[in-house]
Amino acid sequence: MDCLHEEEKWTRDEINKAQLVRLQNTVEQALKAPYYAKKLKEAKINASTIKSLDDLKKIPFTTKDDLRAGYPDAFLATPRSEIVRLHASSGTTGTPTVICHTQDDINSWADLMARCMYMVGIRREDSFQNMAGYGLFTGGLGIHYGAERLGCMTIPAGAGNTRRQLKFIQDFKVKAVHILPSYALHIGEKLKEDGFDPRELPAKIALIGAEPHTEEARQRIEHLLGLRAFNSYGLSEMNGPGVAFECIAQNGLHVWEDAYIVEIIDPKTLEPVKDGEIGELVFTTLCRKGMPILRYRTRDLSRFINGSCVCGREHRRIDRILGRSDDMLIIKGCNFYPMQVEQVLLSFPQVGQNYVLELIKEGSIDQLQVKVEINPAFFEEEKKEDMRVLHQLQRNIAERLKDELLFTPKVDLVEANSLPKSEGKAIRVVDKRKD
Ligand code: ADP
Ligand code: ZN
Repeated sequence: MDCLHEEEKWTRDEINKAQLVRLQNTVEQALKAPYYAKKLKEAKINASTIKSLDDLKKIPFTTKDDLRAGYPDAFLATPRSEIVRLHASSGTTGTPTVICHTQDDINSWADLMARCMYMVGIRREDSFQNMAGYGLFTGGLGIHYGAERLGCMTIPAGAGNTRRQLKFIQDFKVKAVHILPSYALHIGEKLKEDGFDPRELPAKIALIGAEPHTEEARQRIEHLLGLRAFNSYGLSEMNGPGVAFECIAQNGLHVWEDAYIVEIIDPKTLEPVKDGEIGELVFTTLCRKGMPILRYRTRDLSRFINGSCVCGREHRRIDRILGRSDDMLIIKGCNFYPMQVEQVLLSFPQVGQNYVLELIKEGSIDQLQVKVEINPAFFEEEKKEDMRVLHQLQRNIAERLKDELLFTPKVDLVEANSLPKSEGKAIRVVDKRKD
């Protein structure tokens, strides 16, 4: 196996052994933080409680609310003077949570990120452009330090200013980029509109993540931009990117189990789900000093992918994220996730690169209105010829959505680039019921 770190070659046995020692150290470290000192004492847990990995189950879960309640420093396990960096979650849902890192924490995070990049073919001689926002968002500096650690010439382009982004990619022969999937689709579309074939760009590898996206979106990005796109998963509470990452096989994301313990639980019973079933991801940090976190409930839904991976790594794989448990929508008594809609929409070649789901009221009944952009080529051609073709497309989309969601949403076809595009994570659901 061609990899950056020995840990990637660990067998299951080696992973388990290291996890046990690191978990014991983590519990010991966590006890230095006021929050865990109290919480673990109440649960009668100390480092010697952990005699096997199974004893992890004795430790109570940590939730986002716990982190918020512990703001600003109840989770600090080192003196403030040891902290060199602070990050916060993007605040997709509610008040942001803050995570503090020591220099060792930052170094091991950079190592993990460098490992991910090497795994998908990026090398020190390559130029790398980070097209995600910087600031508190971990997709900026987190990815940046990883690329520098690997030795790449790293361009901190940030989000937006598409024209300058493209100039740098061309002039510095950028081989790999980090980009949010919704932004990648947007850029591809824009370039085509300007009469430029994005596949001619030198970038051949994209790290895509930070927001849910379907396999259909990945394939579009690959086709549109002429590169290979790898799914990057992480969350600020667990550092940020570099928690789980797709390998060359593009069949599930390896969780770096030398740095995290992953569990998947049923969010209702809080018991582990059966192997291969969808549930909520729960992570425990194994290498963090500044703010160790035990059994963090992410609310992200995924499942384990069993069997060995062709790349040879034994670090467990998880499936792409379906969404957050609190993303679930209920319309006309049917439960669904926005990604189920995306999967249907993007399977239509006539459908463009952006869409939004609006929750509306029809009388007293909740309804879903899907606004979806249509490829400019198709729109123009058909508009001239016959509106009936567009109506037919609209009906076909509504029908396929009905098969998936079990109710018929309203479908609105709109022109390319007419829907709002945010610079950060895409806003896929807008609740208009209270307007
Ligand atoms: P926030 O929770 O405010 O969005 P973060 O910036 O920490 O803050 O984002 C982490 C979250 O982003 C994850 O919990 C997950 O919901 C989402 N996310 C990150 N990477 C991916 C990915 N590759 N696929 C799907 N969702 C992702
Ligand atoms: Zn693999």
